[in-house]
This record gives sequence, structure tokens and C-alpha cells, in this order.
Amino acid sequence: MSKHAGISRFTYNWGLATWNALYNEGYKPNHLMLKKFFNNEVKPVIPWLKEKGICQKITEFAFENLGKAFQRFFDKKASYPRFKKKGRHNSFTINSGGKPMAVGGTSLKLPTIGRVSTYEGLPHTTTKSFTLSQKAGDWYISFSYEIESEITEKQHDYVGVDLGIKTLATLSTGVVFVNPKALKQAQSKLNRLQRQLQHKVKGSNRRNRQKLRIAKAHQRVTNIRLDATHKATSFICKNHAVVAIEDLNSSGMMHNHKLAAAVGDANFYEFSRQIEYKATRYGSKVVLVDRWYPSTQLCSNCGFKQPMKLSDRVYSCQECGYTTDRDLNAARNLKKYARMASPCLDVEG
Ligand SMILES: [Zn+2]
Repeated sequence: MSKHAGISRFTYNWGLATWNALYNEGYKPNHLMLKKFFNNEVKPVIPWLKEKGICQKITEFAFENLGKAFQRFFDKKASYPRFKKKGRHNSFTINSGGKPMAVGGTSLKLPTIGRVSTYEGLPHTTTKSFTLSQKAGDWYISFSYEIESEITEKQHDYVGVDLGIKTLATLSTGVVFVNPKALKQAQSKLNRLQRQLQHKVKGSNRRNRQKLRIAKAHQRVTNIRLDATHKATSFICKNHAVVAIEDLNSSGMMHNHKLAAAVGDANFYEFSRQIEYKATRYGSKVVLVDRWYPSTQLCSNCGFKQPMKLSDRVYSCQECGYTTDRDLNAARNLKKYARMASPCLDVEG
């Protein structure tokens, strides 16, 4: 699998380097023309690309991924594609010539590679391609498959969701999703391991072992956060018909104080990403609230607007005297926004 990932990375990086070179000479390259050239001119002269036991589909998918990366860049959804680094981006995609492949239980057969066991049981279904990736020493598998519609009966019509740093999310209904305790423990373990790294000799086995320990601890932090995020987003989309959430995709988000404080906290994006796909899955609607809407400054009771410092944890209205938690006030304003922007439901809730 490492070999497959290596070839996938080599192909992707070759494609990106060639793309850059052609562009600098005034050409307009695309991934299909690069793939053709690679198959006809490059593959035949690099024997290890065609070694026995290597699935030849991986180079095709590498070019497809390169094409997608450029498309995201052209659509202004992502920055310019970057080179993949060994150890950092170990992944590849394989298929079986478009034929559906069976999945199910804790064992599955991968084309060319053979039978592998999984830690968790997989749903019994079929898929057209598998992506394998290595993180912190462990291999992960991902694939897509069709599911029956899972539309749920909704308990509430509108809900505002305020994303936080200390708390994961606050709903206008008063429900609060806190960060799990395990996250704090995992984070302090990670910090300790990182401090210990400074005392290890560069290039030594001890240092390498420590690096793997750090990668594993880091993965654990990510997994705990991801698990909590999944639980929150599922609850929200299953139980609410219209979900109002701040639009993080609008450009210049760093001007937003709250977000600027959480620079690099990709979980905000992950949260909205999950809300969007789970809304489709469970039959709810998402309203993206413009980032200029002052959800923290408005009084959710009377609509009065007053400045709020980052340190103000409680909203206390100077106009009507209404006092409530800062995040709850913001969530209620997001809900109000959704009701105005999308008055498709008349029910009170
Ligand atoms: Zn007020």
C-alpha cells in the first residue's frame, strides 16, 4: 500500500510540475492531456511505475485528483494546488475497471492488493472505488455508496447554531454542545510529547519514534473533536427543519473577530461541511447567514444593537434589560435571520 501511495504521489507531483512548466511557457494545460502524455512517454521509461502487483488505475486517479484540485482553485474554493509530501500525503485511489466491488463486515478484497481486515465493521454494500490513506502509521479506507433516504420527523422548525471555541456549538433552543473532556486530556498529552521531542537527538531512532507518538496523539485529538462534531451535526439536522449557521465561506473571514481568534481551527469548516451534507441526508434546509450580520451585537429580545467585547460572556441589553448568555443570544439572532430569509414555515417552534 505504501508503494501504491508512492506512485500516486509521484504521478500527482509530476503532473503538477509539468502543469506549472507548461503554463509558464504560455500553454493552457489540463489533466487529460497530461495523463495522455504521461501514459505514452513517461510510464514506459520508468520501470518501477509498472512493477508487478501495482494497480495501474492509481495513476489515472492521481490525474483526476489533480484536475479536481485545479478546478477548486479556478472556482476560488481552494488555494493553488501544492506538491504532496512523503509521510504527509500517503494516499491513493483504486477501482476495478468500473465494476462494482463488494464491501461488508471486517474483511474486504481490494483489487491487485488482495484481502485486508478492517478494525470496524463496514456496511454490506457495493462501491466503485476505494481510497486508502495513511495517517499516523494507520491505514484508513474510504468509499462512497448509495443509501436510502433517511428523512426524519422534525421536533423544531427553525434553529440558530452559534459555533464557538470553548463550547462546540450553542443552539437557539438552549441546547449546548460542549467539547468532550477527553479532548483536553488528549491535547495536554500532545503538548507533553511535543516538549519531550526537543530533548531527542536529530535523526535518532528515539526522535523518530517520538514523532510517530506525536502523530498518533495528534490524530487522537482530531478524532475526538470529529466524533463530537458528528454527534452535534447529526442531532441538529435530524431534529430541525431549517438550520441557520454563519457563512464561513465568504472571503475575508479573518475580519470576523471570533474567527480570527480561532485561526487555523479547521473545525469550523468541518462543522458547516457536515451540516450541509447531513441536511440533505435528513431532509432539512440550511440558511447561511451573512458574516456581516451582527449576531453577537443585537438583542435577540428587542433588536437593539450595542457593541460587545470578546470578553463579554453575557449579553445584557441596555434598552430592554434582557440578559442572557452571549452565545445563546447570538444563536437566537441567527434563528431570527433564518425566519426572515426563509419564511417557508409558518409553525411556531
Ligand atoms: Zn433588548
